Amino acid sequence: MMKPLVVANWKMNPSSWREAKQLFEATKKAAGKAKGISLVVAPPALFLRELAKGRGGGRIAFCVQSAHHEVGGAFTGEISMREAKDAGASYALVGHSEVRARGATNADTGRQVSAALAAKMRPILCVGEANRSPSGAHFGFVAAQLKAGFENVPASKLSDVIVAYEPIWAIGGEETMSPREMHEMAIFIRKTIVETHGQKGISVRIIYGGSVNEENSDEMLRDGDVSGLLIGHVSVDAGRFSVLMHSLANEV
Ligand code: PEP
Repeated sequence: MMKPLVVANWKMNPSSWREAKQLFEATKKAAGKAKGISLVVAPPALFLRELAKGRGGGRIAFCVQSAHHEVGGAFTGEISMREAKDAGASYALVGHSEVRARGATNADTGRQVSAALAAKMRPILCVGEANRSPSGAHFGFVAAQLKAGFENVPASKLSDVIVAYEPIWAIGGEETMSPREMHEMAIFIRKTIVETHGQKGISVRIIYGGSVNEENSDEMLRDGDVSGLLIGHVSVDAGRFSVLMHSLANEV
C-alpha cells in the first residue's frame, strides 16, 4: 500500500527566513516521528532552495506553490517549473483556489500540468467548487476543472498526477467536509478521469484539503477514500502540525 501523502502548504508564511528555518526544523522533527507518512512541504518559493538543502536525509520532498508553464521569457514576477525543479521542488501545486482567485484559468492549469510533467515534477492539480447547490451543479464544475487540467496528460503519465480536492467553502476553518461526501466526490473524480483517459484513470491519487487539523485528519484519511491530505494553516503552527503527524502515524 502507498504511504499516505501529507502536503504542507505554508502559503505566504512565515514572514522571515529565520522563522522559516525554525518552522522547518520543527516540521522535520514531526516527520521523523511519522515514518509511515510521505511529507511534502510547499514553502514560499524564496525559501525553497535553502530549505531543500537541509531536507534531512531526503525524507521530505518539496513543492512549489505555483509556477508558470513557459520555460522562460518576459513574465515579470513569475517563476518557471524548471526553475522550481532546479531549486529542489519535485511537486507543483497547480490551480490552487487562491491562485485561481487571482485570475488563473482552467486552460492555464492544463498548460501548467504539462509543464510540470515536462520538468519531471509531479503536479498536484487542485480542484473544488466555491459552494454547493442541491441540484449538484458542483459536480459539473469539478468535471470541467479536471478535464482542462488533464487535457494534455497521456495515459502513461496519469499516475504522476495527483488530484487535490479542496472545496473552497471548507478552506481556512476548523471543520472539514464530511468523509462520506469526500468518498462520493472521490468516486466522481475517478469516473471523470476514466471517461476521458480510460481505465488507468482509476489509479490517479486523490488527496483532500480544507480545514484539516489534528482532530479530524485521521477520520478523513480513514473514511474519505483519499490517500493523503493537503494542509494549510495548521502546517505553519509547529505544535499543531506535530500533533497531527503523530496522530496520522498512529493511524497507518
Ligand atoms: C489550502 O488552502 O490548501 C488549505 C488546505 O488550507 P486550510 O488547511 O487552511 O483550510
